[in-house]
Amino acid sequence: AKREKKSTFQFYRDQLPAVTEGYLETEALLRKAIKKNEFVLLYQPQIDAVTKEIFGVEALIRWHREGHGIIPPNDFIPLAEESGLIVPIGKWVFEEAVRAINFWKDAGISPLPVSINLSIRQFYQAELVQMITSILTEANIDPALITIEITESIAMDATSALPILKELKALGLTISIDDFGTGYSSLSYLKKFPIDYLKIDQSFVRDMTTNKDDRDIIESIILLGHRLNKVLIAEGVETREHVDVLGQLGCDMFQGYHFSKPISKNAIIDYYTTFNFD
Ligand code: C2E
Ligand code: CA
Ligand code: CA
Ligand code: CA
Repeated sequence: AKREKKSTFQFYRDQLPAVTEGYLETEALLRKAIKKNEFVLLYQPQIDAVTKEIFGVEALIRWHREGHGIIPPNDFIPLAEESGLIVPIGKWVFEEAVRAINFWKDAGISPLPVSINLSIRQFYQAELVQMITSILTEANIDPALITIEITESIAMDATSALPILKELKALGLTISIDDFGTGYSSLSYLKKFPIDYLKIDQSFVRDMTTNKDDRDIIESIILLGHRLNKVLIAEGVETREHVDVLGQLGCDMFQGYHFSKPISKNAIIDYYTTFNFD
């Protein structure tokens, strides 16, 4: 039988259920989306396990595509990465996040740190540090209010990632490892790298209450993380039971639907002023 080699076109058709056009067409659509400002940034609260207060938020992008409704990031970020358009989109994310920080400041709530996802292509763009520096300076934002979320696969590449992480750290940013425990890692980067937070992947949390292995993995991650002076954030915290078990295991921070979905910057103000842990 003839072996079928999947073209990039076919690959993206499979990957992008909500975007049925071909690769080049979709790339053109994304370019237009940037011009037309069709992206929206939502914010998901992160809750401090001890004070039970909102500690910060994670910024999560959406594409409000004309005539097609809301497209989730997993349906267009891969293509944005492949095409390089993630660089201008990522710049917009930074600018918008910084606008949100000042918006909340003006609304009189105490400064809320924002976590921003950086994909590998953005991480290795020339001028990343300069781009961040100029956005923060122009908006007069304390760099400590920005956390960068990267995955283990980025962190694993010690020789190229380390100098960039050191620069971001020197700038005053906080560094977080996203989806911790799902990549293949030697863990040695944990001692070499200036990492502040570990985010426990939601796949472990999801099955934690029914699968003892997942619970043991979480317990071990928390022990290891605390031993290395990292702050532990659990993702995908959906139930009261998750909160209780993670609390018992010493997790520092919670993020998930139990507290809130990702919401608009206006809604964050309501959340902030009305939130009650119980
Ligand atoms: P992520 O960084 O791992 O983000 C967590 C995802 O889990 C988000 O999906 C969030 O809405 C979802 N989530 C939050 N709480 C719960 C929960 O309790 N249960 C479940 N089942 N899910 C929950 P979302 O917003 O669709 O984002 C998907 C991915 O897209 C993100 O995964 C991130 O890798 C990427 N992404 C999102 N925004 C950006 C961005 O601005 N830049 C880049 N480069 N990537 C982004
Ligand atoms: Ca993330
Ligand atoms: Ca994650
Ligand atoms: Ca993820």
